[in-house]
Amino acid sequence: MGDRERNKKRLLELLQAAGTGNAYCADCGAADPDWASYKLGIFICLNCSGVHRNFPDISKVKSVRLDFWDDSIVEFMTHNGNLRVKAKYEARVPAFYYIPQASDCMWSQESIWYMRTHRPVVLKEQWIRAKYERQEFMADGKTISAPGNREGFLWKRGRDNAQFLKRRFVLLAREGLLKYYTKEEGKDPKAVISIKDLNATFQTEKIGNPHGLQITYRRDGHVRNLFVYHESGKEIVDWFNALRAARLQYLKMAFPELPESELVPLITRNYLKQGFMEKTGPKDAFELGQVFLGSNEQGYQVFEDLPKGIRGNRWKAGLTIVTPHRRFVFTCPSEKEQREWLESFREVLSSPLTPLNLLAVSTESDCSHR
Ligand code: ZN
Repeated sequence: MGDRERNKKRLLELLQAAGTGNAYCADCGAADPDWASYKLGIFICLNCSGVHRNFPDISKVKSVRLDFWDDSIVEFMTHNGNLRVKAKYEARVPAFYYIPQASDCMWSQESIWYMRTHRPVVLKEQWIRAKYERQEFMADGKTISAPGNREGFLWKRGRDNAQFLKRRFVLLAREGLLKYYTKEEGKDPKAVISIKDLNATFQTEKIGNPHGLQITYRRDGHVRNLFVYHESGKEIVDWFNALRAARLQYLKMAFPELPESELVPLITRNYLKQGFMEKTGPKDAFELGQVFLGSNEQGYQVFEDLPKGIRGNRWKAGLTIVTPHRRFVFTCPSEKEQREWLESFREVLSSPLTPLNLLAVSTESDCSHR
């Protein structure tokens, strides 16, 4: 066996070696990474290697299986590895900081507006740069200013949806408020948004910008959206994490009895599926609203068809959601859409609720109007 084969075998063994953390990507946690940054001494997935490749000053990548590895680099990898290097660069990641995950597709149990979403590259890129380039999370790194107020300009999609306008945004963390102004020196904000009902999620395709962020909030019982972006990836991710910091601060105050680990997944939520369905049945001013989705255990169910005698106005394919209080009938534009909705609903309903979901149910009726 030549050097080449011997070193590859050593590396493959190193990937599986107990106590090294090498079986999972150092940056996103994906299983079985087979790329490596031989400058940092970590094993990473193909996806993350693509980000590392863009920053040769901090990282150099090789494929474990395809590239040639000489003895000294194999030694270096053996003495470093994911667990050791993460301990160094992730010594103090704030709880609110969004760490990109390999399977970045979570769901919300709060509304029927779901979207199967793929996290944009900007989050992963900024996580990797914050870690290794700016070294924000090292134990002896420069102190990160405590999360708090933030002020700056973002491009906000206008009312006609065609153009983006530069708007000043102000986040007041302690007060739990996000405001934005139409005029630079304007006295009155155009909107004052409570952090309590706010969600933020990257929606690059929908917004048509790789840094596009959707901010959803509630005002007077209505669900509203702001679509914003910033030219700088760092700026938009810093905004996202500042909103998350303020949200965590709020959740801690609202639910002092819950441990931080249970609050963190609730800071912001991604939408599992988002789209249009037509609601049929009794006219009750329920146009574009929300249906709270509990779990099967609580008597929530979804059925693949429409109740007898009910037909959609425009669309034939439909589904019925049964909640403990009432029945919702929806029709979908196509059978494909119907299947996707059914799949998403079944996924949501089969998962038990978290304690915080249950708290939310007790304070909300099962349908809110828009
Ligand atoms: Zn990865």
